[in-house]
Amino acid sequence: MIAGRLAQVRGRVAQAAIDAGRDPADVRLLLATKTQPVERVREALDADARARADDPTLAAVLVGENRVQELVAKGPSLAGLTALHLIGPLQSNKVNAALRWASCIESVASIDLAERLSARATDPLDVYVQVNVSGEDTKHGVEPAEAVAFAGAVAALPNLRVAGLMTVGARSDDPAVVRAGYALLRGLRDELVASGTQTATELSMGMSGDLELAIAEGATLVRVGSAVFGARAT
Ligand SMILES: *Cc1c(COP(=O)(O)O)cnc(C)c1O
Repeated sequence: MIAGRLAQVRGRVAQAAIDAGRDPADVRLLLATKTQPVERVREALDADARARADDPTLAAVLVGENRVQELVAKGPSLAGLTALHLIGPLQSNKVNAALRWASCIESVASIDLAERLSARATDPLDVYVQVNVSGEDTKHGVEPAEAVAFAGAVAALPNLRVAGLMTVGARSDDPAVVRAGYALLRGLRDELVASGTQTATELSMGMSGDLELAIAEGATLVRVGSAVFGARAT
């Protein structure tokens, strides 16, 4: 079940890349595993390992958790199998717990958090700056107008490496609206790199419902949950 769905998602990603004139190998897949028990996540990782045995050109999937509590609970079983990213907001008092298991924090949106991460990280830590491209106030992230200056300030901290920008796309039925948000993030990434933060090449954007739009706008990492694990009971 999971193996079949994962293969379908891989197919969608590859087709979207080809349609955009891009190399499918330039788009990585992160499994968004919120609410999934560790057994289901392992099932997906096993399926991924089998797929890669058949096709060695495939890159391994990554895993992203939204909540530090889930990261801590599943970390011990998953850490040796895959790289774990935190993709949800991080409270300052949970920085140590997050750093124990996550190799990348995708949700940096305050300088206070960035400073704490820089102070606690033992090796250079990969982070993404999260940008709220849609302006929806339920969404976490810095304002687009502030993003480049903010990301530059984060990159200047000693132990952090800004790998790129991350966003959660607009909640809209209009593909043009969603796509415009992803185009905005790409433009900000280009500005950031041009202004001297040359490590910041990645664009983490696109989910189960809209990954094609994100890949068309340059996503290098898509975060997929329900298309692999099924609908969440929320
Ligand atoms: C849940 C989640 C995803 C995946 O969403 P799906 O629609 O289930 O693919 C991606 N990114 C973040 C930040 C999420 O919370």
